[in-house]
Amino acid sequence: MSERKVRVRFAPSPTGALHIGGVRTALYNYLFARQNGGELIFRIEDTDSSRFVPGAEEYILESFKWLGIKFDEGVSFGGNYGPYRQSERRDIYKKYVDILLEEGKAYIAFDTPQELETRRNEIANFQYDASTRLSMRNSLTLSKEEVNELVNNGSQYVVRFKIEPNEDVHVNDIIRGEVIINSSILDDKVLFKSSDQLPTYHLANIVDDHLMDISHVIRGEEWLPSAPLHVLLYRAFGWEDTMPKFAHLPLLLKPDGNGKLSKRDGDRLGFPVFPLEWHDPKSGEVSSGYRESGYLPEAVINFLALLGWNPGTNQEILSMDELIQLFDLTHCSKAGAKFDFEKAKWFNHEYILHADNRELAEMFIPIVKGNGIDAPLEKVVTVVGLMKDRVSFMKDLWDTCKFFFVAPETYDEKTTKKRWKEDSPEMMLELAAVLENIDDFSLENQEKIVMKWIEDKGYHLGNIMNAFRLTLVGEGKGPHMFDISSVLGKEETLKRIYRAVEVLK
Ligand code: GLU
Repeated sequence: MSERKVRVRFAPSPTGALHIGGVRTALYNYLFARQNGGELIFRIEDTDSSRFVPGAEEYILESFKWLGIKFDEGVSFGGNYGPYRQSERRDIYKKYVDILLEEGKAYIAFDTPQELETRRNEIANFQYDASTRLSMRNSLTLSKEEVNELVNNGSQYVVRFKIEPNEDVHVNDIIRGEVIINSSILDDKVLFKSSDQLPTYHLANIVDDHLMDISHVIRGEEWLPSAPLHVLLYRAFGWEDTMPKFAHLPLLLKPDGNGKLSKRDGDRLGFPVFPLEWHDPKSGEVSSGYRESGYLPEAVINFLALLGWNPGTNQEILSMDELIQLFDLTHCSKAGAKFDFEKAKWFNHEYILHADNRELAEMFIPIVKGNGIDAPLEKVVTVVGLMKDRVSFMKDLWDTCKFFFVAPETYDEKTTKKRWKEDSPEMMLELAAVLENIDDFSLENQEKIVMKWIEDKGYHLGNIMNAFRLTLVGEGKGPHMFDISSVLGKEETLKRIYRAVEVLK
């Protein structure tokens, strides 16, 4: 048999912001598709109208655009298997529900919520299945005429999948191996509801995976319990031969303690669980995003890729291209992956360190502008290059380097006490005179001339440099002195020296 073309899908329900775990699922699908020369499809699973949240679909698309995860087909991308939004595929699902009904593999059930509640109270651990279905109000217990009559008079009903009991269902999972579940523990799942004429997730998901010729279903572990039902549905339709292969990815766990990572963990420990900032249209609540928190998309991708998989070496910094090459679905871990937020910061720092200064400068300029400064791009590029090793986020850069753009207004008391000696004003004026005479104000030239002056005069290098720093920065921090003065330029450097002498005298 020839190898099947790889076609995978990411199929979110538009119920709110995309959780970072969902981003990881999409990323693994993307890596797998690219690695195998396959296709990645973006499908919207919006059959549960009660959970629909406006703006969620746009949010999800914008997230992937920012992250550089590209789709080949789907909602907003087009393709030959559309429509890709499930709410636009009602007629298709209806057809497949009817097939199951005709073949006796599903049945119509009229039990009202109250009737079901009564049953639950009567029978401990009630489950709608082979052991109970014949005592319920459905097309298996009512006559054909009664059923038709009820349907025609508009009674609400659901279509349930008729699961045969006592059968071992085998799910072959690429990550988990063979998982065997006895069908008796499954209930007769609702596949369709007359109230909104829409299928449930299970039916729509299976029908679409089949019709869209999906070869692999790569999704979160939370969907593993649904897999046996999905296998049975494939079988009921006679689609076993083209059933996708399953891979259920490990859960993302809390950074501390046990259990699944939740938005509350993010709020509690101060990190985002969403790729972009999310404005909840109902509650008005605003949740932070990786983008707005100053993460580089490449850092987020790298960090997420290693939550549940690693290349088997110590290499941690991996570009998207390297990930595509090295990713191995069969080597994903079964155990949940702890969400290590400090590690996310570390990745961001590493990416800032290795990023092109010009690109970083473009990100930093709005922050500089936001602080009321109009600085030339070249200056920002230089400052970013000098200072980026000190931050994990671009937004933290301003506090670290603002003295490059704004002259100090005050002078740190502690530093002044320690660094500003009695003879400092005199020395600084002398230094100013030396600097004044330098035409080529480059770092190297300044350094050469000033060092010579210090040597000739027999001055104390440390004292001069400390006082010099205080005049330019206003405190004791910052990079190499001549880095600072050469970026500031002669005029600004002299201005700052004179002012400090004036104020601190
Ligand atoms: N709509 C499901 C979700 O929101 C898709 C699950 C699957 O990939 O089968 O995650």
